[in-house]
Amino acid sequence: MLTCPVGLQSLSAVPTIQAFELGLSITRPLQIQELPNEGLHYGEKVSETLLSDLLEHGPARGSVRFHPEGPADLDIEVVPATQLRPGTTTQRPTIRIHGHVELTLNSCCVRCLCDVRPRIHAPVEITLHPDKDPLEGIGTASKPSDLENPQLESWDEETFPQPEALDEDSYQGTDVFLLDIVREAIQLALPSSPTCKDTDACDLRTQQLIREANAEIEASNAEGDPRWAALRALKREIDETNHGGGTGNH
Ligand SMILES: [Zn+2]
Repeated sequence: MLTCPVGLQSLSAVPTIQAFELGLSITRPLQIQELPNEGLHYGEKVSETLLSDLLEHGPARGSVRFHPEGPADLDIEVVPATQLRPGTTTQRPTIRIHGHVELTLNSCCVRCLCDVRPRIHAPVEITLHPDKDPLEGIGTASKPSDLENPQLESWDEETFPQPEALDEDSYQGTDVFLLDIVREAIQLALPSSPTCKDTDACDLRTQQLIREANAEIEASNAEGDPRWAALRALKREIDETNHGGGTGNH
């Protein structure tokens, strides 16, 4: 018997229900009573507009900016860890969300500043427990040991992600904000320092940038600090006047 939450790997014995068949989409929160025992499979495109929004409102990844290049491919399963009791609406099971999202991003090489388009594979792996709900009372199926979901028995233990590798969190009330989980998965998968795939070409461009920057610095040193240009002009004028006056008194 399974006693602790584990990941979803082999669900082939009991196929999940396609979310779109129930009119469900990642674009809106899943109400927990909409989740069937078989679980839901979300296989859909996430629009570029929505991705822009997700990337814009998440925590920044250093100073590197990312923009989506086309829609993302979402492939996740949402499965109750405990069997739902028929005829009840208040129970809030522990749920497991497993899968991945893939997308192409547009960013800037941190070395040569050229455009780069990294392809991101963001794994989604999380167990969500219901938070404490004072109205719910006793007898909910939120504990994994209570009313085990028979679907979980069919999982291949060898392909289980290790429990410590699984993220855990909680959901409040009856809404599960799947999009927040997708956003977090994408944020975690963003490269901290995107660079060009063609490292030789990137090296050449970087060296050229360094040469240009050095040339600018040298030119600026030769001219002196531009902030003192007016004073230098004045000094030159005084020097010329003094020399022109022929005092030579020193
Ligand atoms: Zn580069």
